[in-house]
Amino acid sequence: MGRVVVGVAVGLATVACAVAAAVVGGRIRSRRKWKRVVRVLREVEEGCESSVERLRQVVDAMAVEMHAGLASEGGSKLKMLLTYVHNLPDGTDKGTYYALDLGGTNFRVLRVHLHDQQPSVLEHEVQQQPIPQHLMTSTSKDLFDFIASSLKEFIEKEEDGPELALDRRRELGFTFSFPVKQMSVSSGILMKWTKGFSIVDMVGVDVPACLQEALIRKGLDMRIAALVNDTVGTLALGHYHDSDTVASIIIGTGTNACYLERVDAIIKCQGLLTTSGYMVVNMEWGNFWSSHLPRTSYDIDLDSESPNPNDQGFEKMISGMYLGDIVRRVILRMWLESDMFGPISSKLSMPFTLRTPMMAAMHEDDSPDLREVARILKDILEIPDVPLKLRKVVVKVCDVVTRRAARLAAAGIVGILKKIGRDGSGGITGARRSDVKMKRTVVAIEGGLYSSYTLFREYLHEALNEILGEDIAKHVILKVTEDGSGVGAALLAASHSSSDVDTVQLL
Ligand code: ADP
Ligand code: MG
Repeated sequence: MGRVVVGVAVGLATVACAVAAAVVGGRIRSRRKWKRVVRVLREVEEGCESSVERLRQVVDAMAVEMHAGLASEGGSKLKMLLTYVHNLPDGTDKGTYYALDLGGTNFRVLRVHLHDQQPSVLEHEVQQQPIPQHLMTSTSKDLFDFIASSLKEFIEKEEDGPELALDRRRELGFTFSFPVKQMSVSSGILMKWTKGFSIVDMVGVDVPACLQEALIRKGLDMRIAALVNDTVGTLALGHYHDSDTVASIIIGTGTNACYLERVDAIIKCQGLLTTSGYMVVNMEWGNFWSSHLPRTSYDIDLDSESPNPNDQGFEKMISGMYLGDIVRRVILRMWLESDMFGPISSKLSMPFTLRTPMMAAMHEDDSPDLREVARILKDILEIPDVPLKLRKVVVKVCDVVTRRAARLAAAGIVGILKKIGRDGSGGITGARRSDVKMKRTVVAIEGGLYSSYTLFREYLHEALNEILGEDIAKHVILKVTEDGSGVGAALLAASHSSSDVDTVQLL
């Protein structure tokens, strides 16, 4: 009997030791895994480092690339496209103008009324419609006949009566957000299609001419007064509301900027003359690149797996299309190195499952137990039961990626200000700050990432203050416009309408 008791006691002790060893081993393993997660986090933080010194290097690089892109065709990754828009709306134009906004899956028709009163007031009506899928890969005639029919219907519905209205000549602003080489404010050749469109007979063809022919076929007497892209529309609307507006930025799914440049600075197009002495330049800044940009292995992988490697490098670090996916890639790396997030989820390895608005919702989760983070990890990435300390790590990753994006966008803005001598430094020639009297400078801004993501916006403003210093930064105002791509095009139709002489000349 005594032997049995001893035997049981020894057995129990062995089990206890085994359990203790397992617990200790488990703890060591889990501490090791945790260390690996922390290491990945530290690496991302270091890789995304955006100190004010580094941002100033990005500012300088942006200004230098702008010069290079203006000096010669292909002189920089910044295309610095001429828009032939030389006359920004200032509230003096009156009347009713139309706009057509075609840039993705939807297109919109708008009617804008510029009332004859002071201060100037505008009202607009808009109708949005999806482009039927089959027309995106059909012929230019099919696409533009469809658009012209919708425009005709809209006019008949919005104006007093079809007979009365249809014989009146109207002016139209056409926002066409695809790469176009413009020859004048109202003509431009499609360079290539993007965003799922592929209408072969249109590449290399004058886009407004295709629309004009369709309008004639439908019996609409309408003149296409301006062909613009969405940044130019945003600048026009910003300038209409505030004449100190000199540039516009879009930070939504993608990112781009345009600004008002002196024509004598556009060296690649010598002999260009405008009555204002200025022209809006579409930078296509999404394609900006500089070795000073803080790039991580996640950015390199995202780029090489994208359909356009080596293109749109700045956009891939900044815009709403990509931020969520950078965060997903970091979480995946943490999982691969530590498996702390539990069994692998196929969603985590699938590109673009984590969209930026969901990433922003995790970042902005202010509940003490990060409930929203847990919900999104479970529902979107199919990772259930993530412990609180790991949820905190996820929030930190969102913060690092978003903060870098917002600060780089701020550096880009200051780069433009530097190029036009509005950063308080005397421009690229670098006069001393104290010698320069800062003019009030407004930048129109639009896009879901900036307007709907509070922390992104705050980081961007903070970086502007840091780079410029508060004394200068207080003269720089970012103003959100709404519907610039549509309303702005109608305003440009007004300021470049047939009643104005065409005042751009090439000597
Ligand atoms: P687009 O750029 O396609 O013309 P928007 O300017 O409306 O359209 O921007 C939409 C983009 O903004 C979305 O693709 C998304 O990346 C981003 N976005 C929208 N809402 C939010 C949000 N709440 N938080 C973060 N990003 C957002
Ligand atoms: Mg848009």
